[in-house]
Amino acid sequence: MKRIYALLALTLTLCAHAQEQKRTEIVAHRGLWKGSAQNSIASLKAAQDFGCWGSEFDLHLTGDNVVVVNHDPIFGETKIQTSPLEDLRQYTLKNGEKIPLLDEYLQQGAQSRCVLVLELKPQYRKEREDILMEECLKALRKNNLMEPGRIAFISFSYYICKELARKCPGYTVQYLEGDKSPAEVKADGISGIDYHYSKFKKHPEWVKEAHDLGMSVNVWTVDKADDIRRMIELGVDQITTNDPALTREIIQEKRK
Ligand code: MG
Repeated sequence: MKRIYALLALTLTLCAHAQEQKRTEIVAHRGLWKGSAQNSIASLKAAQDFGCWGSEFDLHLTGDNVVVVNHDPIFGETKIQTSPLEDLRQYTLKNGEKIPLLDEYLQQGAQSRCVLVLELKPQYRKEREDILMEECLKALRKNNLMEPGRIAFISFSYYICKELARKCPGYTVQYLEGDKSPAEVKADGISGIDYHYSKFKKHPEWVKEAHDLGMSVNVWTVDKADDIRRMIELGVDQITTNDPALTREIIQEKRK
């Protein structure tokens, strides 16, 4: 009997320890792009091959309502929101790829379990944000990626976050701006936050507050060793970084 109690006590201690040591996951910011190009299909493949937990990418809607992967609102010399796709496809990324269509990007995304972190960029009209969301969901369904464990949504647009949380219950939706407390975000039905690390330095209590509310916590874009350490210590769930190799090294070093 004594033995059983000892075993039980050991199991409980190990469980508590595992809880404390909760894993911090790595999200590659715009893919693993060093040596290729940000937001390229090659950068997504590199993040998958590196074994990142997730890979983030940015989405804009063209003037003729096609979702493309790019960070800036201008590509080449062309404004994405007001130009047809044809005009944008004449330019290439640094690595020679054409600006990727979301559909092409997701075909690569479907090749591994690396979580696809879709950042939907704010549009100049709400109606366009509605179209952007619908087109994203359509492309995800087409590529059999509508599974809560496969994808996460992030946005600076509070409207997009609220709408995606409503349309996709059970999915991770994280708000990016950092101007609201976790409780305010949760009250609007949004399941997570993804704030700049400076916000968590100012409000370290927000990580625990979010967790106590059952929310997920991601942080952007953390590239310096000291900041990476600080965010791990705060207990964030994911670190979005341009340097997955350094982040992995620090996570492993802290586990020892
Ligand atoms: Mg982004």
